Amino acid sequence: MSTEAPSSAPGAPAPAPRRTRPDAGRGQGQWALGHREPLNPNERTKKDDDGLHCRQRIENVYRYTGYDGIDPGDLRGRFRWWGLYTQRAPGIDGGRTAVLEPEELEDKFFMLRVRIDGGQLTTTQLRTIGDISTRYARDTADLTDRQNVQYHWIRIEDVPDVWQQLEAVGLSTAEACGDTPRVVLGSPVAGIATDEIIDGTPAITEIVRRFVGSEEFSNLPRKFKTAISGSPRHDVAHEIHDIAFVGVVHPEHGPGFDLWVGGGLSTNPMLGQRLGAWVPLDEIPEVWAGVISIFRDYGYRRLRNRARLKFLVADWGVRRFRDVLEQEYLHRTLVDGPAPAEYAGPRDHVGIHPQKDGRFYVGVNPTVGRVSGSLLTQVADLVEAHGSDRVRMTTDQGLVILDIEQARLASLTAGLEALGLSVNPSTFRRNMLACTGLEFCKLAIVETKARGIALVDELERRVGDLDVPLTININGCPNACARTQIADIGLKGMIVTDSDGRQVDGFQVHLGGGLGLDAGFGRKLRGHKVTGDELPDFVERVVRSFDAQRVPGERFAQWV
Ligand code: SF4
Repeated sequence: MSTEAPSSAPGAPAPAPRRTRPDAGRGQGQWALGHREPLNPNERTKKDDDGLHCRQRIENVYRYTGYDGIDPGDLRGRFRWWGLYTQRAPGIDGGRTAVLEPEELEDKFFMLRVRIDGGQLTTTQLRTIGDISTRYARDTADLTDRQNVQYHWIRIEDVPDVWQQLEAVGLSTAEACGDTPRVVLGSPVAGIATDEIIDGTPAITEIVRRFVGSEEFSNLPRKFKTAISGSPRHDVAHEIHDIAFVGVVHPEHGPGFDLWVGGGLSTNPMLGQRLGAWVPLDEIPEVWAGVISIFRDYGYRRLRNRARLKFLVADWGVRRFRDVLEQEYLHRTLVDGPAPAEYAGPRDHVGIHPQKDGRFYVGVNPTVGRVSGSLLTQVADLVEAHGSDRVRMTTDQGLVILDIEQARLASLTAGLEALGLSVNPSTFRRNMLACTGLEFCKLAIVETKARGIALVDELERRVGDLDVPLTININGCPNACARTQIADIGLKGMIVTDSDGRQVDGFQVHLGGGLGLDAGFGRKLRGHKVTGDELPDFVERVVRSFDAQRVPGERFAQWV
């Protein structure tokens, strides 16, 4: 690792010296520049002990002491390295989120996140996830928009047993949260889609095998999100990841991947940028390791809200970032390559679609990803009864069932409908996302999941359906876990003032965000705030106006 400042592009003028701030001597905590002293409590916790080490204490100590015996540094810090978050205590309203201490917001249960790299599951694994939910998690199991499953109500005493059962079928919670390489997203239809450019699965498998759970990358400045898809549908939201590999065909070298870096939403949203480099499948792990090493070594560690890779990319620019990657980490140049082709259709995989082997895959989006362990077990049974043993998680809080023979499609879809999983849902049910929200999240200001389900029911009752996609993303706070800024109608939870002057649950509205053809962040117009009670009327008005005024083929982001 170099301790020098990174180089500029060859021949580029020397950068102007920066103004010196009073605290400049301590830098931004960039390890590569020699700043190794922790500059905030999170960095201190990580330096004191690697987050991965808390597993031994859970297995050997905390399972016997219970919640009250847990070291606070583990409880609110290192536990995340094993997918564990303390859970919000029931009955605490969102107005008190900002004023209570963390310990006042918590109960003695945990959220536990299971990483499902590439979203790929066997029915045995899906059934195990369901069984654990019913035994240890009060039948909770939310599908996230990053191909994870999240349990709630987990007791620390049960965590070793849960790990044992997950790991027996090849699943893990390692680095599902924390300042780590999080779950690696992959196309839900990798290896089977008729239109696939290239299957990224081998690269996902290799990255997880070599680097997840390794102390080489277990102390990053913040989380590091990866997406790899060779689907022309761009089905992993590559624009909002720290690193993404997007399928392209190089005119000389053939199918491979276009490299993107520096995307992310949260409170300072930025879209990822292309480095202009083409990466063949077998080089992805090496290039991934180079980029995450830059993040580990040069990433900002002073302020948590400026620690994501996107800030470094924004400050350096893509030319300098690529130079540092090539010169300091890869020690070779990358091949220049083309940009991905634009894709105009829906990015999800809902409905019935042919596979390249003549069978079919079937996609469903449970409303706002809210399912249960029992339901997942029923899905596993249903899939097996129809001759398949493969299921995929999607990046839309959904599920895709693979390998169904044509003769069994009608029976399968009838079975799914009976479980409340439509293969032909309304646009509202199909496209709505909701984060965890006030029900379990300590950072939440408003309720989200139940509100989302009620809103879908209400829109279907009042409006029916639309013949164009419309995304409505409901978030419980500014952190944008359900992608506030890239929805047609993005809702950011906050306390608002109602018409009687009372402080109540509500939302800041962002309109017209999107990815792909409509890539850009929704506009946050002054006065676009609604109370929770007003939400159905507000959304109905917006939807009806769009439906009445749009010209044929016009998308919401174009109309608004
Ligand atoms: Fe929690 Fe806020 Fe993320 Fe929702 S957006 S899950 S409320 S941190």
